[in-house]
Amino acid sequence: MTSEPTDTIAHRRNTDKRFTILCIDDESANLKVLASIFKADYQILISKSAKQGLEKAIQYSPDLILLDVLMPEENGFELIVKLKQHSELSHIPVIFITGLQNVDDEEKGFKLGACDYIQKPFNYSIVRARVHTHLEIIRQRNLLDKFAHFDSLTELPNRRKWENDTEEHWNLAIENTSSIIIGIVDIDCFKLYNDRYGHQQGDIALRKVSSSIKRVLFDYQGKIYRCGGEEFFFFLPPNKDTEIQLILNLCVQSVIDLAILHADSIATNVLSASIGAVQVLPSTTLTIKDTLISADTLLYQVKKSTRNAANFAELNTQGMLINKDGQLIL
Ligand SMILES: [Mg+2]
Repeated sequence: MTSEPTDTIAHRRNTDKRFTILCIDDESANLKVLASIFKADYQILISKSAKQGLEKAIQYSPDLILLDVLMPEENGFELIVKLKQHSELSHIPVIFITGLQNVDDEEKGFKLGACDYIQKPFNYSIVRARVHTHLEIIRQRNLLDKFAHFDSLTELPNRRKWENDTEEHWNLAIENTSSIIIGIVDIDCFKLYNDRYGHQQGDIALRKVSSSIKRVLFDYQGKIYRCGGEEFFFFLPPNKDTEIQLILNLCVQSVIDLAILHADSIATNVLSASIGAVQVLPSTTLTIKDTLISADTLLYQVKKSTRNAANFAELNTQGMLINKDGQLIL
């Protein structure tokens, strides 16, 4: 097999179109030029007005925005203020492309949060190089972000990611007056497993257990995070009580089905997991921490009894745990 020439590999790397650039300019001729410069390497979206540009930014969440300053109705300076105030869009780098030659305008652009300022008429290779540099920074930032939010052993998102995501889900649930399910998974007698089979086997078991539960939760739009040694947090969208109990039972069963021998387990003869989970209607009087404490209480009950099971209840607005029969859980 002949090896690929380096320039082809480099070209392919640059043309896998992972990045999307949104170009906003009121003049079609400028949009055409920008599209022709970048279309071979990146996904290009175009907008002829600030209003439409904002809509496209919200809809497509581009990696980079090229923004004209002088536009009728709303200009580029006005639009960047909106972009920077929008929680979902404020991180997107904006490069101004403008015919304004004034240093004060350039300074204003930077003050409003632009990452670069390119003057028209533009030199194609300089525009291309600058955009490429910014996208390279984004690529590296995404990579760092990935490492900062993932657990390398299980390849699950980590506690930091959990904290970010649950806060987001929690606030969204308050906004929509919808409930969420938050739970904790703990592997039964895991210390005994490590003591008998060694940490290397323990790590393998952690990977298998977490990925089997992840698969079950994934089918129901749930997500699991590694938040401690053998402890995992998860959330699920709202559902009927009976359905939730069913999903949790499937998670427990998926671990048993792995049939990982655990001769010292008190629960059974293979590796198993226990789950405590709470359905809650998020409000300003309850916190994520309260919910986790409740989930932990339920988990503790399983741990004190059979293990290898899921314990599920509802946390009411007064912060009290109610089981499926409507009884108060202490
Ligand atoms: Mg213009």
